[in-house]
Amino acid sequence: MTMTENGVREVIIIGGGPAGYTAALYAARANLRPLVIEGFNWGGQLMITSDVENYPGYPEGIMGPEMMQDFRRQAERFGADFVTDDVTKVDFSEQPFRVSVEDHEYLGETVIVATGASARQLGLDSEQKLQGRGMSYCATCDAAFFPNKHVVVVGGGDSAMEEATFLSRFASKVTVVHRRDEFRASQIMLDRARGNDKIEWITNAVVDEVLGDTRVTGLRLRNVSTGETWEIEADGVFAAIGHDPNTRLFLDQLDHDEAGYLVTKPGSTETNFPGVFAVGDVVDHIYRQAVTAAGSGCMGALDAERFLAAREGHLMAAEAAPRA
Ligand code: NAP
Repeated sequence: MTMTENGVREVIIIGGGPAGYTAALYAARANLRPLVIEGFNWGGQLMITSDVENYPGYPEGIMGPEMMQDFRRQAERFGADFVTDDVTKVDFSEQPFRVSVEDHEYLGETVIVATGASARQLGLDSEQKLQGRGMSYCATCDAAFFPNKHVVVVGGGDSAMEEATFLSRFASKVTVVHRRDEFRASQIMLDRARGNDKIEWITNAVVDEVLGDTRVTGLRLRNVSTGETWEIEADGVFAAIGHDPNTRLFLDQLDHDEAGYLVTKPGSTETNFPGVFAVGDVVDHIYRQAVTAAGSGCMGALDAERFLAAREGHLMAAEAAPRA
């Protein structure tokens, strides 16, 4: 049996990262009493980041999880409600929109999708253990923690080339580890990295284990042709093997690009369904920063607010119009 919550929410926000919580903050302050279905593992990618030093307003830096708690508390303070669970189904085919968490259904006049993207992981237990302790997925965020150190970048695409080049400004040595000897990266990015004498290359190799107890100390690599394994020392590891948008629930209803990122109307956060908005990394595969996601969350809330106000205006005009 499906249980439908009494009443229709003006705004339902799906996702609990910087974009979702900022949308919640703005919607709550506009008296729209948003419901945030934040996910069982709320907080998003910042939960696996240690120090955040590039979010404006925190001159001393802040731990990623602590920052997400602050974002959440700020939205709560103005009246946002939270469901700490994962959405299992959405139906945008008619108003009000339906958002389900298992057999519990929530109705919303607007929905803001802020489910983010996830950095692809190598899939190793040792990787999980050392996340935020030298195991990173974002050079822009963490490169400055490795001055004069040796770091490894895993991957052979544009992200890996970009991260390796960026890291070389801080680290004394950067080793790119790639599983083939051909690169997916564009020629220009590859050439730039190849021309950088701080960058070394290990090809036809994959990571078998990230080494270290409390911090990364190295890697065990395996040659994919010969099966030979060996260890190298490293102070940090950056996996740059791509991101996946968290859009599985929406692909049959919302417009998206080939990689699955949602597509919004130019200059707006509105999707192909009027009243359904998409914000943050679920639409953005270029900037992917907490601050850009937060800004986009704010835009989504303002767009939802305007959508509701315009509809209210139409309803009032319809009610006031003389009947024939
Ligand atoms: P990508 O193009 O999908 O490349 C991912 C890389 O990681 C590939 O080399 C892949 O190897 C490797 N990989 C995937 N899974 C792996 C695993 N489990 N273990 C080891 N290696 C693995 O992703 P991306 O580099 O993040 O780029 C995504 C998109 O953003 C691309 O369209 C790219 O052009 C664009 N981008 C552009 C810029 C720029 O222009 N400034 C910067 C960054 C990204 P294989 O090659 O063997 O599959």
